[in-house]
Amino acid sequence: MTNIAVAGAAGRMGRAIIAACQGEEGLRIIHAFDRAGSDTVGADAGELAGVGRIDVAVGDDIAATPFDVLIEFSNPAATVDHAGFCADHGRAMVIGTTGLDADDRAAVEAAAARVPVVFAANMSVGVNLTLKLLEIAGRALGETVDVEVIEAHHRRKVDAPSGTALAMGRAVADAWGRRLDDVGVFERHGQIGPRADGSIGFSTIRGGDIIGEHTVMFVSENERVEITHKAASRAIFASGALRAARWVAKREPGLYDMQDVLGLADA
Ligand code: NAD
Repeated sequence: MTNIAVAGAAGRMGRAIIAACQGEEGLRIIHAFDRAGSDTVGADAGELAGVGRIDVAVGDDIAATPFDVLIEFSNPAATVDHAGFCADHGRAMVIGTTGLDADDRAAVEAAAARVPVVFAANMSVGVNLTLKLLEIAGRALGETVDVEVIEAHHRRKVDAPSGTALAMGRAVADAWGRRLDDVGVFERHGQIGPRADGSIGFSTIRGGDIIGEHTVMFVSENERVEITHKAASRAIFASGALRAARWVAKREPGLYDMQDVLGLADA
């Protein structure tokens, strides 16, 4: 049995993880905590997640209950703090928090020298598989094809293109030995002239309640390859995090990503 602690238990992802863990054989939520002062402290974590009572009260202290793996979707400051705790106490970690700066990442790397850590900005199994397929397609098709990344998200999303679209463009650019900053085309309007060879174009759609859809087209004269991922629910991030938790519990210290978890790192 792998005992899981959830940081950010009252957050959207924390609750999704608590919910997804129910019925997962071999995984058990043993500790759930949020920031000190959260009005959720004391509530039953399962009830908070909408899956009924699990007899784990939301706390505000990482040290209150021993655990095997910490799943962390919170904020950068809390993540750095908790990485230090896990390193000091020999606990594995799965980190999904985004927005870490260079110092924060250095702190996570320092922790990963002492305990196993999976750190990934997108935990979806499907997205991570897609990134690998894009790398393979980029290598096989080369720079002579026209590559276009098209993404669609709900009307409330404030950044564009999505971080996942950028990661997809980067997977192709990396396969070409190029930097996305040098080959990405992020705006087209007016008399823009013909398409530049070796560029990667981005198009953005925003509307309604679309959770997240990404298509990468590899277009040549007589054929076109399209690789598409469509997200139907945030549950994909939670189930990926649980898969990472099972995997990391048995690992040596080190910094890993979802490509490692899925066995795709050397594919
Ligand atoms: P959220 O704001 O709903 O939840 C964050 C929670 O962390 C809040 O409940 C907050 O009170 C809590 N928190 C703050 N300080 C804390 C502390 N010191 N100790 C414990 N808990 C603390 O946000 P969210 O939508 O759940 O996203 C959380 C993070 O995960 C963000 O960085 C987001 O970008 C990232 N995210 C990553 C993925 C992925 O696949 N890697 C997917 C979705 C979201």
